[in-house]
Amino acid sequence: MTPDTATLDRAACEAMDRADPLAPLRDRFHLPEGMIYLDGNSLGAMPKGAAARAHEVVTREWGTDLIKSWNSAGWFDLPVRLGDKLAPLVGAAPGEVVICDSTSQNLFKVLSAAVALRPDRSVLILEGSNFPTNNYIAEGVAAATGGRVSVRLCEKDEIAGAIDADTIAVAITHVHYKSGHVHDMAAITARAHEAGALAIWDLCHSAGAMPVDLGGAGADFAVGCTYKYLNGGPGSPAFLFAAKRHQGQALQPVTGWWGHAAPFAFEPGYRPQHDIRQFLIGTQPIVSMALVETGLDIHLAADMGAIRAKSMALTDLFIRLVEARCAGHGFTLASPRDAAARGSQVSFAHAEGYPVMRALIAAGVIGDFRAPDTVRFGFTPLYTGYADVWDAVDRLVSIMDGGIWKLPEHQVRDAVT
Ligand SMILES: *Cc1c(COP(=O)(O)O)cnc(C)c1O
Repeated sequence: MTPDTATLDRAACEAMDRADPLAPLRDRFHLPEGMIYLDGNSLGAMPKGAAARAHEVVTREWGTDLIKSWNSAGWFDLPVRLGDKLAPLVGAAPGEVVICDSTSQNLFKVLSAAVALRPDRSVLILEGSNFPTNNYIAEGVAAATGGRVSVRLCEKDEIAGAIDADTIAVAITHVHYKSGHVHDMAAITARAHEAGALAIWDLCHSAGAMPVDLGGAGADFAVGCTYKYLNGGPGSPAFLFAAKRHQGQALQPVTGWWGHAAPFAFEPGYRPQHDIRQFLIGTQPIVSMALVETGLDIHLAADMGAIRAKSMALTDLFIRLVEARCAGHGFTLASPRDAAARGSQVSFAHAEGYPVMRALIAAGVIGDFRAPDTVRFGFTPLYTGYADVWDAVDRLVSIMDGGIWKLPEHQVRDAVT
């Protein structure tokens, strides 16, 4: 689809944009003038509908209708209703997904449920180089068992071999946050089941970015963010998937009233719901949750196959252009070269990655830096075009050729990178 690198220029990228079936959806996002936003894998861009929806929730539902809105605006059912909307994006059935809490909290719930489902086993397997919160949470789950359960950290090629008769669950992030490596969900899930273990998937870097088939893979549980590729807004509530067969069987330990079978009966003791609502704890951040819907609606209007095809083309284009035009400037590809094995992001290792990213951000190209030496770029097919990729690399070339990253202002470290 993309022309040879030698004949590739901005005009060729513009032609690819004109032929892009997803191009019309870009207009549904607010994108600041002049900025090339390659960080939708950390915080997705704002859907234009979000401001109007926020205004409605705050002024009418809260301001005017007040407490009546729990019923009249459907606030109480929002976690389940939006979960059903998200379900097709991850290959789940209605009633298998709920929107609530954070990814970290949801992971605690499903890991604990897995421990309870496998009382005669003692090991949780996670990927050592994963985003640290997942491993921290697993440590907490293990500690809460008083030492009966332990966490085993493996790297990607060791995972399948580590699963044995003592494994409670493998809890892996589908697309690695730093390298973008895609794990084979179906194969790892099958391997876990063969050994009698459970498979738990973190979809933070795949939900909304590529097709995910939890049902087809037979996954047991899953969690993920809505503020990355799903454009739910900063800190928007996460999602939790529990396969139908585990509902009513797998109980989680944070037994709050929203997971009670009759929350408004105010009974003295806890009695769990026997459906997906058992994974709820308590009152949700309704304003933030309401905005999740504006992002989901855009995704539901797009074809996931087209999203994945464009994602692979954008990331391929970026790699080719950086390698061709920044040759000799010290960038080493830190993501899989094969697009099929890569999520919607590209990382390069560079010894001066931090000042290089600072200089890029100052030039209006927003990516991020992950210690110790990774510059990371996320490509969101719904609002990133081929000419954006061209322009981003053009600005990178100027920074490298001109030594602009060496300026003192680019050496200062911020708290959030
Ligand atoms: C983004 C991300 C998280 C975020 O967790 P929060 O609870 O929302 O802070 C967790 N795990 C992975 C793998 C992530 O990429």
